[in-house]
Amino acid sequence: MDDDIRPGEVAVTPPAATDAGLVFIGRIHTPWTVRGEAPRQGHPDGPVCRIDVFEPWIPALDGLERCARIEVIYWLHLARRDLVRQCRASDGLVRGTFSIRSPVRPNPIGTSIAELVGIEGGVVLVRGLDCLDGTPLLDLKPERKPVVPPP
Ligand code: SAM
Repeated sequence: MDDDIRPGEVAVTPPAATDAGLVFIGRIHTPWTVRGEAPRQGHPDGPVCRIDVFEPWIPALDGLERCARIEVIYWLHLARRDLVRQCRASDGLVRGTFSIRSPVRPNPIGTSIAELVGIEGGVVLVRGLDCLDGTPLLDLKPERKPVVPPP
């Protein structure tokens, strides 16, 4: 994947970025250094990846070890942010940005449900990511439990 425009894609001039106050709370280390190498979506059989949580946020990991699966939320820092219509490389179809899970979006936030392998101090080991090495970490949460309707 590169930053070229494909046929049918539409770029806009986004408004000036305003600071939403996001804090990068860590950095994610994966085997992938080039966008084309990373899986489109993480898989539980994928490689173990390392999430380095920065101080002062390490105490916030307390209790996360009880979760088998966690939601990892990250900032897809190399993605362009100005496309409203995009052409999927897989099928050539042009779709609105909000109808696909492309990394290219006005606020390039990515999420994966990952299998928790272990926590060692400020290092969280997981399987199931799809982001590039060096991707900034925004948040970690327990996997949302499915709502079971009453019998
Ligand atoms: N699982 C997340 C989601 O659904 O929100 C992200 C899916 S996105 C399709 C994953 C792709 O984003 C990868 O295959 C790679 O091409 C690209 N990507 C990964 N890390 C990135 C980064 N830090 N900046 C820009 N693009 C990235």
